[in-house]
Parts: sequence; structure tokens; C-alpha cells
Amino acid sequence: MDYDEMLKRVNDARKPNTGSRFEPPEVETYQSGQKTIVELDKFAAYVNRPVGHISKYLMHELTANGQIDGGKLILGGRFSKKSVQEKINQYTKEYIICRECGSPDTHLIKEDRNYKIKCMGCGAEYPVGRIK
Ligand SMILES: [Zn+2]
Repeated sequence: MDYDEMLKRVNDARKPNTGSRFEPPEVETYQSGQKTIVELDKFAAYVNRPVGHISKYLMHELTANGQIDGGKLILGGRFSKKSVQEKINQYTKEYIICRECGSPDTHLIKEDRNYKIKCMGCGAEYPVGRIK
């Protein structure tokens, strides 16, 4: 990637709702001994979701324990980049992309103990499952 391309990506990231396709930054995953480190900070900032919520989802889906260290999730166990990315894609579908219009410009709102998605594009609001 050259400098112009990089600049373009930075600019694209600043205007998430232009109708262009949704390309969140890749989540970097690497293994360290018997642990897997997942770098969630860039992704979380881009999609406007708390690192804690994404982490909870990943731990639940991968049936792994883990801890959050800043923008990183440290999973107990070894998981491939591919399996982590698959779960990230699932998360994106379930908790980010609007079911009604397909816009990624949505908010996750916590109400009491439940979560709902509110879409800034079409105004849709619907509940989403709580992660156990
Ligand atoms: Zn919508």
C-alpha cells in the first residue's frame, strides 16, 4: 500500500456512511505460547463498539476464557487468525450491519440489561441478543 492509498483509507474511514462498501480494518491475531492475542482496538474504534462487547462475543463463540488488556483481548488457547476473523464477521453481521437497510452506521444501545441496535441510516431499532 503506498502513501496515497493509505491517505485514501484514512479519509474513507472518516465518512462511514457514504454508501461505499463496508470494510472494517482487519483484526490482527497472533499466538504467544498457549495464548492468542487479538488486537481489537482499531476494529472497535472503526465500528464504534466497545472492546468489551466484542471480546465477550469472541469468548462466547470460541468457548474460550480471556482477559482484556487495553485494546487487546488475550484468549486462553490457540486460535487461528481465520477462526477469529470468521467470528468477527459474524459479529459484524449480527451487531453492526442494520438488518433493515444494510448500513453499518448503527449504534449499540444498552437498555437495562438488554441491547438494541439503532440505525442512523434508516432509523430502524431492534433488539439483539445479549451475549451470555
Ligand atoms: Zn438501517
